[in-house]
Amino acid sequence: MQTATKTVLVGLSAAQLRAWVSETFGEPAYRGTQLAKWIYQKAVTTFEQMSDLPAALRARLQEVAVISPNTISVIQRSRDGTVKSLLRLADENEVECVLLPYDDRVSVCLSTQVGCAMGCRFCATAQGGYTRNLTASEIVDQLLHLQRLSERRISHVVLMGMGEPLLNLENVVASLRLIHDEVGIGYRRITISTVGIVPKIYALAEYDLPITLAISLHAPDDETRSKIMPVNRKWGVDALIQAARDYFEKTKRRVTFEYLLLREVNDTPWHAQELARKLRGVPCLVNLIPFNYVPTPEHFQRPEMARVQRFRQILEQAGIEVTQRVERGHDIDAACGQLRGKHRGKPIPLALQPR
Ligand code: SF4
Repeated sequence: MQTATKTVLVGLSAAQLRAWVSETFGEPAYRGTQLAKWIYQKAVTTFEQMSDLPAALRARLQEVAVISPNTISVIQRSRDGTVKSLLRLADENEVECVLLPYDDRVSVCLSTQVGCAMGCRFCATAQGGYTRNLTASEIVDQLLHLQRLSERRISHVVLMGMGEPLLNLENVVASLRLIHDEVGIGYRRITISTVGIVPKIYALAEYDLPITLAISLHAPDDETRSKIMPVNRKWGVDALIQAARDYFEKTKRRVTFEYLLLREVNDTPWHAQELARKLRGVPCLVNLIPFNYVPTPEHFQRPEMARVQRFRQILEQAGIEVTQRVERGHDIDAACGQLRGKHRGKPIPLALQPR
């Protein structure tokens, strides 16, 4: 990628950087390996910091290249350590990314598109519509910006921010290769979250990457699911669960089903029983996410703890493994699309719940 005059280096692999330094400066290829280490492993922001490069080369790099054309425009820090930021891209679009430090890991949540076309009824991002896909460079650059804000090394990546990753599959896979090969985070520590674009689940399986696939199911039946997720009108629950089975057959990686609990919408014992029935024999994990109340046109409500427990119990009694998402960043704009909407000065009309 090039800005108006300069080559952007974030997004180039070590092999591409080796070829580039040779062609551009006639330098030995190992200079490209050094560049890759500074950019992806040390996450530096200037050529000046690349202390093992000769000063003359650093000066020439400065003239013809930039590490990244993107900047951080907003940073919000939560008392629980969560850091949410907006990355301003070269074309002035903005995307959200989040740093989530836990005791045993440091995770980041990255965006894959500017906006989103999926229209989930509980999501703030959906309200702004879709603008464009992010490039692999822009996806990996979110991680590098967050690394600079973190005292500890980032260990896990989830593609669960703005956008539907499987509708930007080529760039997403290219970004995962950079995160794996250049940053050094293993595929097993990477999760892609999808609303369930069935043909793209099969396409992802063909890449045979040992990542985790998380499917936002949120209802076990088409009637309920179509009300909260318009995508269900195109690919229904049964086709989606079959795709999860086939994904396991192909990759031997069990799928995580995300399930956002909305009181009296999808959290009744019937929904739990129906979910248990449909997931019988599917190698999977169900992650329950009680809705975090904010006003919505549908008046979605958070279920009481007793309802969550009952839902969980029904699944567990049916032999399904269940986890419950640890909620973070309550004192900041922690949900997908919330910070971006606020920063643009627009009111946030809908629920602010990450999927
Ligand atoms: S929840 Fe995800 S897929 Fe659904 S509208 Fe929001 S960003 Fe898009």
